[in-house]
Amino acid sequence: MMLEVHDIHTYYGESHALQGVTLNLKEGETVCLLGRNGAGKSTTLRSIIGLNSPRQGKVVFDGKEVTGWPAYRIARAGVGLVPEDRRIFPGLTVRENLEVGQYRRPGTTNPWTVERIFDQYPMLAELADQDGSTLSGGQQQMLAVARSLMSAPRLLLLDEPNEGLAPVIVKQIGQLIDDLSKTTTILFTDQSVHFALKHARRAYILEKGRVVHEASSEELIGDEAVQHRYLSV
Ligand code: ATP
Repeated sequence: MMLEVHDIHTYYGESHALQGVTLNLKEGETVCLLGRNGAGKSTTLRSIIGLNSPRQGKVVFDGKEVTGWPAYRIARAGVGLVPEDRRIFPGLTVRENLEVGQYRRPGTTNPWTVERIFDQYPMLAELADQDGSTLSGGQQQMLAVARSLMSAPRLLLLDEPNEGLAPVIVKQIGQLIDDLSKTTTILFTDQSVHFALKHARRAYILEKGRVVHEASSEELIGDEAVQHRYLSV
């Protein structure tokens, strides 16, 4: 397993946001975490990378227990997070935003350079010298994902990559995920089933801080009862 999350409980103050979440990802898998607003999707990703460390339970990445590690250390171990709000640095150009993300783990080579990102994603090359904050939502999302690649994550966590984006952009983000799936293990979150099922082989559904359902994409797409019960459809 690349990622094992064992029965984690995470709090915001006294508020018990995750009440025992368990999930696993094998190396090379692309998995979706589904659930309505407030179900605990973001908190799960934040718990994995150490932005909100679980108070109980374990997170094991690449066979090593990382529970309680600070986020920068988990990131350096090879986990990348693209947060829901994307966090593009205003006042920095697209190129500079990418450079800020650059990190090479000791003993590894990072296949990604700014130039390679520009080769692969010409849309970003065209925007290279533009202030990151002037980009459209979809362009910012592409940039946020590209920036996370600059640290060559082995596991990429994407928090609602489609939120607020037009359908044509959602399609591009889907292509980006498919493309990255070939080389990276990915866990992404979404509120509805359609995108998830196109781009992930299986999914976990969260409700009220618990995993309430786990299924392959094919199973879920045919299961309207589950979709109505737990998801925005
Ligand atoms: P969304 O689509 O809204 O991001 P989500 O499934 O990602 O939904 P979370 O953001 O993980 O859900 O929220 C899980 C629970 O934790 C919710 O009850 C939410 O109100 C609560 N919560 C999230 N962030 C905070 C915070 N900063 N302080 C207190 N409670 C929070």
